[in-house]
Amino acid sequence: MLRPFDYFHPNDMAETLTLLDQEDETSVLAGGTDLLVKMRRGSIRPPVVVDIKGLEECQGIRWEGDRLSLGSLTTFNDLLRSQEAHKHFPLLIDAARVMGCYEVRERATLGGNVVNASPGAESGSPLAVLEAQVVLKGRRGERQMSIGHFWQGVGKTDLAPGELLVRIVIPRLPEGSRSTYLRRSRVQGMDLASVNVAVVVINPRLPESREIRVALGAVAPTPIRAREVETLLRGQEITSSLLSQMRDKIQEGLAPRTTSLRATPGYKKEMVGVLTEMALEVLLKG
Ligand SMILES: Cc1cc2nc3c(=O)[nH]c(=O)nc-3n(C[C@H](O)[C@H](O)[C@H](O)COP(=O)(O)OP(=O)(O)OC[C@H]3O[C@@H](n4cnc5c(N)ncnc54)[C@H](O)[C@@H]3O)c2cc1C
Repeated sequence: MLRPFDYFHPNDMAETLTLLDQEDETSVLAGGTDLLVKMRRGSIRPPVVVDIKGLEECQGIRWEGDRLSLGSLTTFNDLLRSQEAHKHFPLLIDAARVMGCYEVRERATLGGNVVNASPGAESGSPLAVLEAQVVLKGRRGERQMSIGHFWQGVGKTDLAPGELLVRIVIPRLPEGSRSTYLRRSRVQGMDLASVNVAVVVINPRLPESREIRVALGAVAPTPIRAREVETLLRGQEITSSLLSQMRDKIQEGLAPRTTSLRATPGYKKEMVGVLTEMALEVLLKG
């Protein structure tokens, strides 16, 4: 059952930041698909809830120079409707397509997904591999950091008390780059990912200058880049022997938690290699 709480719905950034600064235990409400579940369950009981859906600054998808800027209130269905996402970052579309169901996607925001900081969240590995930055705002000013630094652990971020995630910015990829996102879940229907991978290939047709980026979700407390695999694959002709080395290397140092309800550590470690190989096959064949 929901405990009573004070509800505010400001339309102004300054007023929002003042409200967030006043109370220690204030919760920001975006789509509410995580927050309200936790409040109903009683795992959090904020006395004050600030609904940010009226904030213009947190909305919209637009280019700012060479970076696509996505308001934190962008929903997963907004992503699916975005021509820019389809054209430049198809892995975000792959991720949005498998996220929840239509009704959840209509409410659930990218910002909420990022701040909720679940290791297997749909936006996790895609934003890590795209080297996204987060723009945070508080009464003491604005700051920006890489998404990799923002996530600090399961459900933990660098968001300071009173701060708001305003936008997520993604640098434009070089012309001709390709990207995809693949995940495994326990059932075909609505289920969180047991494991996921996001792959970007820059210069897919020119092996000598080709760069391959790989990020993994649900195998560590936060989404992670597979840097050693990236080094192994850089500028190489993709052969079956290289792919076999890649599958071994990708498992090195991975220690998925043993308490996951969705998959065993062994399955996750094996599957990130399989999914990465599948992604490379799709991307390199075009
Ligand atoms: C039925 C169902 C299916 C789901 N399926 C999936 C799935 O397939 N994949 C997946 O990844 N997730 C899934 N989820 C989880 C959830 O929908 C997502 O994590 C969603 O993106 C959260 O966004 P929201 O806008 O609803 O966040 P909210 O619930 O509003 O907020 C989540 C957290 O982030 C904070 N917050 C939100 N926005 C901001 C901001 N701008 N600045 C600072 N703090 C903020 C809130 O205070 C809260 O702590 C599912 C949830 C449900 C209920």
